Amino acid sequence: MADHVLVTGGAGYIGSHACLRLAEAGFTPVAFDNLSNGREAFVQWGPLERGDVRSRADVERALDRWAPVGVIHFAALIEVGLSFQQVGDFYETNVGGALTVLRAMQARGVQPFVFSSTCATYGEPQYLPLDEAHPQAPINPYGRTKLMVEQALKDLAAHGGIRPIILRYFNAAGADPEGRIGERHDPETHALPIAIEAAMGRRDAFSIFGEDYDTRDGTAERDYVHVLDLADAHVLALRRLLEGAAGGEAFNLGTGGGVTVRELLGEVARVSGRPVPSVSRPRRPGDAPRLVADNRAARAALGWTPSRDIADMARDAWGWHGRADQA
Ligand code: UDP
Repeated sequence: MADHVLVTGGAGYIGSHACLRLAEAGFTPVAFDNLSNGREAFVQWGPLERGDVRSRADVERALDRWAPVGVIHFAALIEVGLSFQQVGDFYETNVGGALTVLRAMQARGVQPFVFSSTCATYGEPQYLPLDEAHPQAPINPYGRTKLMVEQALKDLAAHGGIRPIILRYFNAAGADPEGRIGERHDPETHALPIAIEAAMGRRDAFSIFGEDYDTRDGTAERDYVHVLDLADAHVLALRRLLEGAAGGEAFNLGTGGGVTVRELLGEVARVSGRPVPSVSRPRRPGDAPRLVADNRAARAALGWTPSRDIADMARDAWGWHGRADQA
């Protein structure tokens, strides 16, 4: 029987794509999710275990039932803006939830742990591209919750019997090219789905937050990485741990290239064949002008090669959003 992998947040955007790639790699992903933001319909490649990462009993029940070889931990609150309004919830879910999962793993002797972290742990870039040695000084509660877990993981790796790999995502985008799962948050704040909704006429216009940055066209530049490339990195990280790696490392996951907001809108217009109406708005507080990953460590240690570009991300996101059943 295929090895089970517990995927917390497995009904969410990145988690469901990770389940897809795990299944294709020969694992059985068990999506552990409370469905607060995840969707049951996204659980297609293994069982759904309804549960909450804040509940030790829920997590232990899942570990006992499925005896997973490792855990991939996505379950978290992710909206930077909300993290200022719901600070306690963010710490409880993101820090408390991760610790609850890790304590349950310790109690059951499960060691491999792949953690969803973020380039938001770096804060204002002091140099670009960002490598893993860049100082970590997050500028919002969301980033601080992720950094706290990273710090706990370093100690748990050294002294707690956990073998973690930390993955710091840049801007996840795109969808399953076959259109089975995709990106939908409520409320939606991410640039690519908003641009698609504007092209579809579901919103009046895309608000460009800042056109006076020191970038090639004045709009902010981000390192968008296809969600399937991200998903593949999780499979590679898990395999590395299952082969016996001690873990404790962190890897940046980005393509190493930047795309401006205007370029993103151009891609959506191209793949959709429709104009993307836009309006100019002030800069969004806390936004950096440019964020680009140095991904050499992930390439070298994990053998990770992001193979999809912004055109693929726009096409796949458009394909998923365009399906009638998503309306
Ligand atoms: N952005 C924008 N309008 C929007 C949403 C996002 O101009 O309605 C910009 C945002 O300022 C940033 C980029 O698009 O420069 C990516 O934003 P997103 O929220 O997708 O990801 P972030 O980089 O903030 O994690």
